Amino acid sequence: MFIWLEHRIEGPRNKRIKLDNQPLTGEKLRRKTLKHIAWLLIAFATGATFVGYFTPIRDLMPDLATLQAHGWSYFWVGFFTVFTYLNAGWLREQVCIYMCPYARFQSVMFDRDTLIVSYDTARGEPRGRRKRSLSHEEARAEGHGDCIDCDLCVQVCPTGIDIRDGLQYECITCAACIDACDSVMDKMGYPRGLIRYTTENALEGKPTHILRPRLIGYLVALLVMIGAFAWAVNDRMPLNFEAERERTELYQVTRDGQISNVYNLIVRNLDKRDHTYQLRRFRSCRADT
Ligand code: SF4
Ligand code: SF4
Repeated sequence: MFIWLEHRIEGPRNKRIKLDNQPLTGEKLRRKTLKHIAWLLIAFATGATFVGYFTPIRDLMPDLATLQAHGWSYFWVGFFTVFTYLNAGWLREQVCIYMCPYARFQSVMFDRDTLIVSYDTARGEPRGRRKRSLSHEEARAEGHGDCIDCDLCVQVCPTGIDIRDGLQYECITCAACIDACDSVMDKMGYPRGLIRYTTENALEGKPTHILRPRLIGYLVALLVMIGAFAWAVNDRMPLNFEAERERTELYQVTRDGQISNVYNLIVRNLDKRDHTYQLRRFRSCRADT
């Protein structure tokens, strides 16, 4: 959404570079201000939605507007607004490369049968520029691979990598390079799919296996987690009970000389329906001193 808005407000990449390099004019100020306001609005919507998971959002929004909300609500909405704005607007691919744990997981989970975004090296190399008028067959006959080395796949990549160097942990599988390369292939009159979803085995002409021990292991682990989650939800007691020692008074001495401690009992009904609770004493303690 951030990138889409930037594209709408400031234009495509080359226009944005030109805008950044030109001195501050009224038009530049207008576009930049509009972009940052739009980004901040999305960031605020993200922050408010997140806090809305924990506070009823129908109350939260008017409370925020009328300064009636709890201090923590302002803090968390502000926190997520600022960090969404910074992460998505300014840090961008740095978040994917250095902060997101998924990038580290994926290299452990992948194998040679995993469907990934790949560059077909056998088809694309030797890469190189050539005359547009050259047909596919003529280019092949002259020893060219299908990659015309236009660099478009690198330019559109949100994490700034070159997929032609092979699978890299920075790849977030957004497939932008597939679309970019397909458009180049269309213009050149070459078959699409120089960059495509495929497996390492398929690229080497070997069969791809769908059912394999690793995948079955992941499926079993996933089913166990779903089962545990369903059991936890089903077994949840919709009640929160707290007994807090009265802090102002250490103890009381009753008329018959017994020592009594004072507790505050807090019962919270977490169900949507009303309930009646009974509190029973099941054990009594007598203090001798
Ligand atoms: S977009 Fe396609 S043709 Fe252009 S450099 Fe990338 S792989 Fe080669
Ligand atoms: S799939 Fe996305 S992140 Fe991965 S190389 Fe292509 S453009 Fe870059």
